Amino acid sequence: MTTGATAADIVIVGGGIYGTSLAFELGSRGYSVILLEAHEIASGASGGPGERGVRANGRDIRELPVVSQSIERWQRFEAEIEGGVGYRRVGGLQVYDVPYGYREHEIRGRMEAQAAIQTQLGTPTSVLTREEVLEKEPEMTRNVIGGLYCPNDGVGDHTFATRQFAAAAERTGVTIRTMARVVEIIKQGSAAKAVRLENGEVITVGSKLFLLCNAGVAKLLAPILNPHEVPHVWNLMPQMMYVTNPENRKVNHLLSHVHRRLAVKQLPDGTMMLSGGVSVTHENGRVAQGSLSSTAINLTDAISTLPFLDRSEFLKVDATRVETVALDAIPVIGQPEAAENVYFGYAWSGHGFAISLGFTELFADWVESGRKPSELEPFSPARFTLASTASRSAELQAMALSA
Ligand SMILES: Cc1cc2nc3c(=O)[nH]c(=O)nc-3n(C[C@H](O)[C@H](O)[C@H](O)COP(=O)(O)OP(=O)(O)OC[C@H]3O[C@@H](n4cnc5c(N)ncnc54)[C@H](O)[C@@H]3O)c2cc1C
Repeated sequence: MTTGATAADIVIVGGGIYGTSLAFELGSRGYSVILLEAHEIASGASGGPGERGVRANGRDIRELPVVSQSIERWQRFEAEIEGGVGYRRVGGLQVYDVPYGYREHEIRGRMEAQAAIQTQLGTPTSVLTREEVLEKEPEMTRNVIGGLYCPNDGVGDHTFATRQFAAAAERTGVTIRTMARVVEIIKQGSAAKAVRLENGEVITVGSKLFLLCNAGVAKLLAPILNPHEVPHVWNLMPQMMYVTNPENRKVNHLLSHVHRRLAVKQLPDGTMMLSGGVSVTHENGRVAQGSLSSTAINLTDAISTLPFLDRSEFLKVDATRVETVALDAIPVIGQPEAAENVYFGYAWSGHGFAISLGFTELFADWVESGRKPSELEPFSPARFTLASTASRSAELQAMALSA
């Protein structure tokens, strides 16, 4: 994966699930593509132990059309790519209780509305009674009033999938260069003409440059964005915990709880993986803040939902993968005003794996047709800016700095 190719029609920065699946999609459509990865394939958020939830249930409604499309593609590529992509359609169940300050009719109204809208937007969803929830998940706490069930939701081995897409991309003729960190976008007029690697090498961009390098996007974009275009995002390290299953209990679905920050899956070897909870921060590769307290909070939420977990033993906690987050928890996808051939997508906000294959198909359609697919409009960074603010951005920035 380390050939010395120095030019391609399309250059992709980032070897996570986005970069590799787009490289595969474009390679399959006959484009000449180079993918540049700073470390190894799947060394960012798309790598590491366990599995990721491939979930539409409970997502922001602006994401639902794309995630439905994505989930169909997970199923398709599991069958079509040699060796599969590590995807398992186990069904997703989100349970509901009545938290302090709410009345049951409010929660039930919300459940009904959410199920109807999710179904309308491509994710078949049914409302389950408490008894139906307990039939599907006998280990569940009795303190639930019901749940939303999505039969098409599932889980995926993210590291395996990302490597499989990279290998499949190479079979279509894509060049993948690892240990190739991009440090600068070189512009000519209003287009990116090349990128510079950390070792000084220059890679020529034939027609288009995709920045799909997650936490690395902001730094590369900073020199070419106008002040009003800069999306205000931040990075965090989501935490994953693994506990034993001494009584051989079964968790049948991808499980979540609407009022608790929790995702539970049972891995193929029976181990329980607990994620979706409080994140931690890292500095220079070491946990800087919050590991023990985050673990305590996340375990308490998991045990309150599945009481048998209290008799498990702790195996490990992993919070080494950085993810970028946007204020409204949906991604930022766009093109800089000053470089019309640059496309960026990041701030997947902790749930970018499931939806990735939908976005990468839309990116490839954008390349092929030259027109931005309408499905991408809700994710434009323009949503953070008033139209009138854009023209006054320099003045407003100066005012903010002097305040
Ligand atoms: C612990 C955890 C749990 C998660 N759980 C879920 C889940 O259950 N369901 C779900 O849908 N999503 C989940 N997510 C989110 C999901 O994993 C990410 O949104 C997704 O993997 C992001 O993919 P990516 O390709 O954009 O980024 P990454 O996988 O981070 O890939 C970006 C790559 O770019 C490289 N790079 C960075 N800068 C440069 C540069 N300058 N030059 C070259 N290369 C560069 C990095 O080395 C990295 O390999 C989770 C994330 C984490 C961290």
